[in-house]
Amino acid sequence: MSGPCLVPAWSMPGPCLVPAWSRPCPCPSVLAVTHSSVTRALCNSRFTYEVAPVFVLLEYVTLKKMREIIGWTDGRGDGIFSPGGAISNMYAMLLARFKMFPEVKEKGMSCLPKLVAFTSEHSHFSIKKGAAALGIGTESVVCIRVDESGKMIPADLERKILEAKQKGLVPFFVSATAGTTVYGAFDPLIAVSDVCKKYNVWMHVDGAWGGSLLMSRRHRWKLDGVDRANSVTWNPHKMMSVPLQCSALLVREEGLMESCNQMHACYLFQQDKHYDLSYDTGDKALQCGRHVDIFKLWLMWRAKGTIGFEAQIDKCLELSEYLYNKIKDREGYEMVFDGKPQHTNVCFWYLPPGVRYIEDKEEKKKQLHKVAPVIKARMMEYGTTMVSYQPQGDKVNFFRMVISNPAATFEDIDFLIEEIERLGQDL
Ligand SMILES: *Cc1c(COP(=O)(O)O)cnc(C)c1O
Repeated sequence: MSGPCLVPAWSMPGPCLVPAWSRPCPCPSVLAVTHSSVTRALCNSRFTYEVAPVFVLLEYVTLKKMREIIGWTDGRGDGIFSPGGAISNMYAMLLARFKMFPEVKEKGMSCLPKLVAFTSEHSHFSIKKGAAALGIGTESVVCIRVDESGKMIPADLERKILEAKQKGLVPFFVSATAGTTVYGAFDPLIAVSDVCKKYNVWMHVDGAWGGSLLMSRRHRWKLDGVDRANSVTWNPHKMMSVPLQCSALLVREEGLMESCNQMHACYLFQQDKHYDLSYDTGDKALQCGRHVDIFKLWLMWRAKGTIGFEAQIDKCLELSEYLYNKIKDREGYEMVFDGKPQHTNVCFWYLPPGVRYIEDKEEKKKQLHKVAPVIKARMMEYGTTMVSYQPQGDKVNFFRMVISNPAATFEDIDFLIEEIERLGQDL
């Protein structure tokens, strides 16, 4: 990087400035309101340094910090704040394609062989959406099988990559999920990276939900191998309770985003400015004007410190473990998969007495499928609590309790269970 360093020391995410008694601060509202008033008052976008110097720098230091946490040497690499995890994932796919076939930028898809991407059958639907939007097509996204707890099976990944190659297709992108949306499962990143390396395929980690566990010394082992990825999606607007929207895509290779997306519009990104052009970061985005998503994250980080985020995340995981321990052997409950949940997703069935003793297995499944929707509807009617439910594969409707609010208490969990039993016992 040429020219003077434009990053002032005060902007580095540093030690926590807030006294210990006030941590973890579960309520982001004060910070969020501050953020909104400041960014709305300034009403600026972030295409160039001259338009939003402070926000460009905040983005620079924060993305660097996040890359350090991922484990990339000296926080080197690139990144961008995008309008959500789905878009971050699409950016990753765009970069992977460009890396393998840079000519696609000018010539389009017709000059390319048939590409194929891989992701687990439990992955987020945004991978398929991205493939559709980029002209790759949803049929070119191959779903990899998962084990009983929802983790991608690396041997199946290898098998399907080989199958694709035999058909003359070109594998270009693997998306491993760190924290799947329903089970909260973490794909085995080290094993997946070995396969990606062997076949020279871009490895993306969709950590939209689970990426925040990197902030926790107790839980970050679940993402072991994330530093081997070419790109990582990480949504501070999920587990870190930063108000929507705040999602980052982190990229290991420097300069790739720039060459992939830049158009050098001469009325904005003049190349003869008399200062360091590397801070005109807008041209690596697909958008022109962008909303300022960085200030609230930076502000919360300055206020809580890494330690504050860690405490908040650990608390949520502790609450979900409490829920799991409470129901795993409790009469009338069945866990959807064996073993302790890895994230805060606790997936379970509640079997009301009327369903519990049905002998016929198929009939029991059929009746159980109807339980969660009725209980949920009653919850909404009474307005007491809420929990989501869904089927998954061959599993009938089950409850999925996800805890991302560190202000929740053990009593809240007790209440949830009492409420499920109160509203469901007559079914
Ligand atoms: C939520 C989620 C996304 C999408 O993120 P948005 O910010 O809602 O676009 C992508 N992947 C996973 C695993 C998610 O849980």
